[in-house]
Amino acid sequence: MCRNLDPLTETYGLSFYTQYLAHWPEYFQVAESPSGEIMGYIMGKAEGLGENWHGHVTALTVSPDYRRLGLAATLMSILEDVSEQKKAYFVDLFVRVSNKVAINMYKNLGYIVYRTVLEYYSGDPDEDAYDMRKACSRDVNKTSVIPLAHPVRPEEHEYQLSLQAIEKRTTTRRLNRRNEAVKVIQSSLNKKRPLQYIAYAEWINYILRKYKMNKTIVKHLDEICVHIARNSVTIDTATAEKLLEVYTAVGWSTQFSKIHKQSGQCNSCKETLQCLKLSMEEFHKLQNNIKEKLIVGSDLFLKTSPDELQRFQKFIEKTAPYDIVLDSLNIALAVGTPNSVQRISFLKAVVDQFKRENKRILLLGRNHMLKWPRQPLDYLRRNTFSFFTDNLSQDDPYFITAAILSGPHTDIVSKDLLRGHMFLLQDEELRHIFKRWQWQHQWMVFANKGRPQILPPLKFTPFAQKLNDGWHLPYEKEAQSTGQVNIGVPDLTNWLCLRPKQNK
Ligand SMILES: [Zn+2]
Repeated sequence: MCRNLDPLTETYGLSFYTQYLAHWPEYFQVAESPSGEIMGYIMGKAEGLGENWHGHVTALTVSPDYRRLGLAATLMSILEDVSEQKKAYFVDLFVRVSNKVAINMYKNLGYIVYRTVLEYYSGDPDEDAYDMRKACSRDVNKTSVIPLAHPVRPEEHEYQLSLQAIEKRTTTRRLNRRNEAVKVIQSSLNKKRPLQYIAYAEWINYILRKYKMNKTIVKHLDEICVHIARNSVTIDTATAEKLLEVYTAVGWSTQFSKIHKQSGQCNSCKETLQCLKLSMEEFHKLQNNIKEKLIVGSDLFLKTSPDELQRFQKFIEKTAPYDIVLDSLNIALAVGTPNSVQRISFLKAVVDQFKRENKRILLLGRNHMLKWPRQPLDYLRRNTFSFFTDNLSQDDPYFITAAILSGPHTDIVSKDLLRGHMFLLQDEELRHIFKRWQWQHQWMVFANKGRPQILPPLKFTPFAQKLNDGWHLPYEKEAQSTGQVNIGVPDLTNWLCLRPKQNK
């Protein structure tokens, strides 16, 4: 193959590039010299809802020979023009806080540091990003570029804005209509906590004000439970108490209960909760979304190099399907000691256990693990398909992607509840599908006196479920932590059991 490729092909690989081009052709500009040489290029996209609709700079590169020609400024101004045409409110970009040269250049082009996104770039240590913005003419009052006083975490950055909007509304007037309550719940669902209770309480109060017959009230309360179930919400204690109160008032049997973790049986009514398996259609929806993400390169994926992404995809194509995908660093760290000998032997014990069941294993690790003790490492590599990513990559997207691309029967092993569904956040339905997929497929590993204890997936899905006209709803005891956002992990311990009396 020709080594002397143009800078684009060197950096991104042609297919990545052309796919991007197909999605946002107008946001893709290349500057050529008169002799046909590539001097630089810019790639971007338009995204966001409502007043968050904006142009985003994905990549800007200028060849070293042309750095002094103001080429970057020209490319940026083209991207800004495209964003103007698309009626964007602003243009933004992310830059490492250490990249002073780039930051100054963007400042000279009129960009301001809108906020700091903590630990946006993974690495050792993780590095913060500046989110820099410049307002477009549509944002007449330039509200989109008023800097935020406090830094945000990556997962908060969509949420913050919507939260501000909701807070303004909930304090200035009460929510009197069901639709408004639903809207508030929908918008706060991503991280739910702060306003969920207000919204559900308003919804319940509205029903009680409007309807007088128990039967009608129950019918409308049922909509709330359906909403909770459909969005895989774990309600807070206050909401659980409110629901218990109102269902008691209409004559139902109501109980705070526990669900047996192995059997899924309710302590109170003895019914058994179901595992909500994905239909093939749902699985394919999830799989296709992951494929699209790979092609287009979501921000999460762009934290790795496109080369590595391609190498990874080719590897999967060649070796899939697997029965099980191991998030190996995560598993090895579960042993709890900083000793790499103990870590790898812990990991080996986990592999052996799946090996005994003749499972086809994909082991995903990080490059630095290749420095771990030779012999067990070789053993692991002989007995599994193994892929090691650059130390800068994020783990979650990789192993989730590998498992989902592999097929509907592939399980995953990790000790963590995944943050990876963050990359599906834009789509409520997908997020719900993903969470159900996760509960259906995730094994967990814990250390018990230095030995792995491997727990299979739960027999039931820990989301609100309707059984024989009654409801079981998981709720969360009061927040244990400080400002930590809830990532959407249902609490398995506490359940609200609601049953109509005649079904007793
Ligand atoms: Zn029950």
